[in-house]
Amino acid sequence: MTIHVTGHSNPDTDSVTAAIGLAALLNAQGQDAKACMQSTLADLNPESTVVLERFGLAAPEEMMDAAGKTVALVDFSDIGQAPANITDAEVVTIVDHHKVGDVTTNQPILVRVEPVGCTGTVLNKMFKDAGVAVPKDVAGGMLSAILSDTVNFKSPTCTDDDKAAVAELKVTAGVDDTDALFMDMLKAKSSVDGVPAKDLLFRDYKDFDMNGKKVGVGQLELATLDQVAAIRDDLLAAAKEVKADGRHTVLLMLTDVVKEGTDLVVVSDDEALIESAFGGKIDGTSMWVDGMMSRKKQVVPDLQKAFGC
Ligand code: MG
Ligand code: MG
Ligand code: MG
Repeated sequence: MTIHVTGHSNPDTDSVTAAIGLAALLNAQGQDAKACMQSTLADLNPESTVVLERFGLAAPEEMMDAAGKTVALVDFSDIGQAPANITDAEVVTIVDHHKVGDVTTNQPILVRVEPVGCTGTVLNKMFKDAGVAVPKDVAGGMLSAILSDTVNFKSPTCTDDDKAAVAELKVTAGVDDTDALFMDMLKAKSSVDGVPAKDLLFRDYKDFDMNGKKVGVGQLELATLDQVAAIRDDLLAAAKEVKADGRHTVLLMLTDVVKEGTDLVVVSDDEALIESAFGGKIDGTSMWVDGMMSRKKQVVPDLQKAFGC
């Protein structure tokens, strides 16, 4: 019985490298596990592709359907972000750093969820607890994920544990300059040249159930908002199209990583509700929210409150 380790849909670098990391740990402990992801390598986001290449990591195998499989979940525990038929799979482990989701099990299982900035940070502790050395290439992947998820330590989700994990993993991975690694990832992540607007919207996108209403939140992390100035109308049209497909609201976070804030593009049945959620005023089709960097910590909780969840 092979444990299929997978991260969330529209996988980001943490979902990809945590799947690789947990599979490596399980293998080192004598279990049969393999890394999977809800994507083909061709469709994988550019940041994760760069990370896999940089550290010589093999891409996880595509797994879109979990029916009948034994699975371990990393970086999520929401059914809405799981492979198809997750309720027909046997979930044996969850390693995460998000709010606990709605996956349930018939047996007691290993769950390790910590309020830190990245699954990679949790995994690094698990390697240490198990007395297993993190392989060099895997350490590079986990290191990259922590830098990505914490936006190079700038996100409010970042904790001292994340910084400590980076300090350890950079040595193992042989990376001297983590700022340079982050900028290489940001360049790949924020390149919009020739990418269709809808693909950009879905590059880092999650749907949430907000009190029975479907709400989608995408995020583009940018070195400057100028990068999307010429395609704003296209992005708005894409958001409208996605909203028309049964959603109450679609938000697109255009996050300026240098200025540390987000221009929030809003397409909603209830704009006033979104304004009240973030205490701002929509100017045209978007509103600037100073300091907003994290969907998980600064967007989803406020939305949940506004929607009465
Ligand atoms: Mg993630
Ligand atoms: Mg993560
Ligand atoms: Mg993320």
